[in-house]
This record gives sequence, C-alpha cells and structure tokens, in this order.
Amino acid sequence: MDNNNKLSNPQETIRVMKENGFTVRKKFGQNFLIDSHVIDKIIAAAEIDKDTEVLEIGPGLGTLTQYLAEAAKSVTAVEIDDMLIPILEKTLASYDNVRIVHGDILKQDVNELFGGRPFKIVANLPYYITTPIIMSLLESKVPAQSITVMIQKEVADRMKASPGSKDYGALSLAVQYYSEPYLAANVPPNCFMPRPGVGSAVIRLKILDKPSVEVKDEELMFKIIRASFNQRRKTLANAVSHFEGLNFSREDVEKALEACGLKPGVRGEALTLEEFSALANALSE
Ligand code: SAM
Repeated sequence: MDNNNKLSNPQETIRVMKENGFTVRKKFGQNFLIDSHVIDKIIAAAEIDKDTEVLEIGPGLGTLTQYLAEAAKSVTAVEIDDMLIPILEKTLASYDNVRIVHGDILKQDVNELFGGRPFKIVANLPYYITTPIIMSLLESKVPAQSITVMIQKEVADRMKASPGSKDYGALSLAVQYYSEPYLAANVPPNCFMPRPGVGSAVIRLKILDKPSVEVKDEELMFKIIRASFNQRRKTLANAVSHFEGLNFSREDVEKALEACGLKPGVRGEALTLEEFSALANALSE
C-alpha cells in the first residue's frame, strides 16, 4: 500500500474516523500515530524481517499494523476496544498475514497465541497501563525475543536508569533483571492524534536468555527492592525492616549488608542489581 493511503497520513486517519463515526476513547489511552518516520524507527529498532512473527498490543485504527504487516511474516494484533474491531477489518483488509484478536492483553494467554513459537512484541502502548503490561510480559517468561514499545518518555528514562540517578528505582531493576533496554527514539506529542500531554519515547527491551543476575529467592529480592524504594529517604536497613511482609530486624539487614561489603547506612538508590541479589542471598540464609 502506498504511504499516502496509509493511516500514518493524518488526512487518512481523519477520514477513517469520520466514515466510521469513531471518536477517540480516552479511557483506553488512545493516541494514534500520524508520522511515518516514527513508525519506520519503531520497525527498525524492533529488527523486524520477513521471518518475524509479531504480537502487536493495541492496534487502534491499524496504523502501525499496516507497516508491520508489510515488514513481518505475520502480525497478531490484540485490541480491547470493540468499536475498533470492524474498523481494523477494513483498514487491514488488503493484508493476509494479519490476525485481529478482540481482547484485553492483560488477560490474554500470549503463549497460546503463538503455540510456543518465538515472536517479537511491538506496540504504541496505552500509557495508563504501560507498567502492568510490560511487567506481566516480562514476569510470565513468554518466549518473546524483544519488546519494542512507544511509552511515556519519563517511564523510558526510569527503565534504563542506573544507580544513583533520580530515575533509578524498582522499575529499572525489574526491567534490567529480565532484559537489556535501549532507547531508540524520543518522540514529540505532534506525532499523535490526539496529542498526548507528555513526551514519548521508543524503547526496545531485548529479553535475556536468563536473568542478568543469579538469585536464590527472586520473590524475596523484589520485595527487598520494593521496600528499599518505598521510602527513598530512609536507609535501606530501616526501610526493609519496617516493610510489611518482610520479617527482618534492622540488625539482621545491617549484618547482611556488611557481609556483602556494603555500609549499614546505605540507601537503596545506591545499590546495583548485583548488590541487591547478594543482599537477598545473604538474607535468605
Ligand atoms: N497502535 C495504534 C497507533 O499507534 O496508532 C494505537 C495506539 S493507542 C496509544 C493504544 C491502543 O491500545 C488503543 O487502540 C487502545 O484501545 C488499546 N488498548 C488499551 N488498553 C488495552 C488492553 N488492555 N488490551 C489491548 N489493547 C488495549
């Protein structure tokens, strides 16, 4: 399909919305892409070719989907909004490698959609549920090779942040435990219709074959991480010993910190993922 006739042309997006009497639903985080250069950057960052099976989350009117269908082997697109399903059937009618699934990505058995085959995830995500979607995909250990998504710039910065920076926190550690993040592009609000109130970014998370650190009790490590960043101004020992669901005294935590070569008064924001895993291992003994 010629780029002019695609939905990345704003006139075409307006025409399709009018023709179908569709108005954007804010509750579903609908901000449609209207810039072909941004879409090209997403496809390049995701490293899509004719052997790639793609899972797209939230195809909307089908804007990104039209480009994905031309670049990939196949696209499975999961959309929650029932009003968009008949529209997608029309805007994607000329592609025979697209499967439209009506459903909520958070309730979808993603593995079943691909019968265990590897795939790549690509999306312009609904911003109101970015973190739950990414975390459920990472934690469910689906055989996805990468997740390339448009998200709020501020969330992208948190995902790739390093110790000591203001953006560093539980999300950085969780994302970097399962994947290698790479910021592919910053995207201004005028690339969307309607324009979001925040800046956006395209981030690619390359899923690691195995987590980046070895830890005996993964759940305990993430509880310690959550506790440490729950009250950033407290020392780690203080925050962890007062956290619900963790039964350690301040002395227990201080001893474990010392055993790991860390100062008893250290704050969570100074610890690397390796240090959190060592601390969790020391506390699980
Ligand atoms: N991909 C389109 C584009 O780039 O123009 C639309 C992106 S829009 C930011 C997000 C899309 O996700 C909307 O179509 C919205 O209806 C859909 N969506 C929101 N919540 C969803 C969920 N839980 N499961 C699947 N799709 C969802």
